[in-house]
Amino acid sequence: MFAAELVRVDGRFIELTTDLESRDEADALVASFDAAVDQWTSFWNLSSDSVADWKVSAMVMRDKSHFAAEGLIPDHVPDFPYGYAYNDSVWVMAQPSQYYTRHLLLHEGVHSLAFHCFDGAGPTWFMEGTAELLATHTGDGKLIRTITVPTDRDDVPYWGRFKKLNQVRTDGSVPPIETVMAYPPTLSGDVETYTLSWAAASLFAGYPEYRETFESAVQSGRDSGPTFNRQFYSRLSKTWPIVAARWRILANDFDFGFDWEQQRLSISTSDPLWDGKPIKFSVRSDVGWQSPGIRIPAGASVKIEATGQVTLADEPKPWISEPPGVTIDYVGGRPLGQLIACVLPNQTPREGNLPPLMVQTVGNDSVIEVESHSWLLFKVNDAVGDLGNNRGTYELTILSPPR
Ligand SMILES: [Zn+2]
Repeated sequence: MFAAELVRVDGRFIELTTDLESRDEADALVASFDAAVDQWTSFWNLSSDSVADWKVSAMVMRDKSHFAAEGLIPDHVPDFPYGYAYNDSVWVMAQPSQYYTRHLLLHEGVHSLAFHCFDGAGPTWFMEGTAELLATHTGDGKLIRTITVPTDRDDVPYWGRFKKLNQVRTDGSVPPIETVMAYPPTLSGDVETYTLSWAAASLFAGYPEYRETFESAVQSGRDSGPTFNRQFYSRLSKTWPIVAARWRILANDFDFGFDWEQQRLSISTSDPLWDGKPIKFSVRSDVGWQSPGIRIPAGASVKIEATGQVTLADEPKPWISEPPGVTIDYVGGRPLGQLIACVLPNQTPREGNLPPLMVQTVGNDSVIEVESHSWLLFKVNDAVGDLGNNRGTYELTILSPPR
């Protein structure tokens, strides 16, 4: 078989050279890239001046040796499994799906943008995390939407980020966020590094109160050493126990259709310790974990009583559930619609693997034993990507169990 002719497609921010068989795919890559750049500059609040003279020379390659023979891969480019960026040049291996090829082109493009606008992309977690954050997309061409979470596995063949995260969760090897932020420099990224760095970047981009720290960090891209993280920590030091706790929840829940509008966790280190008096609380069915705004002291027993009905879908007919849940479907091993609780300790380990989250069934009533100072969270059991069609609340009472 002869190597395909190289095709060149010229865009505004990219000049693509490729041996992809499909000219349509090559055109769509260029249109996607140009549309993505506008979204990235607005994400980082960059003026159009800052990218006026930036144009990426991109090689998207099926047959790498063909490009090498043409002198299009300089000697300083290391061997890489997926892609590589150097100043305003990027090299990307074409993947078995158009989605994943596009993702990798965008990923390397984000690195190139960081080199151009910020003189560097920061330490590994920040460099790979922001590249993944800005590259993860839905749609393509002019309709591409970056900085989003795919809703459907079938839309993103070979991308595999949530598959990897699921594996990490199943293995019980979810690291603390500090471990992710300490990833050493790598030349050839592995999917786990990409995935967890993406999750960390998503956390800091997903909460408005971290946004300023995240944005000012990108300005320090030149610094890939320990000073970068030290500054990052110091800006958030007062709230770090919340960052760590939110990371633990995110690492547990991040999945297809995850929507920050539904999943931001409202907790505080100044939430008062529960005094044992009854509290009433409504648990919404259309959002993720919810806290009644208290912390539970170590050694306390908490009795929960719950009533109410929620609607979890309308098709083919309304699916109504009460706190025990309905056994027509299971999510995370528990009946759909079940009222569940999570005891989230105020202290999160900073080393080793994070212990699995303590999630338990509440149903109509139950008693929860709390070992260490913790937040007590509730939600209606459903897939994170399937909350949009939920309605209604469970009404619960938190009280001291009879002695
Ligand atoms: Zn990268």
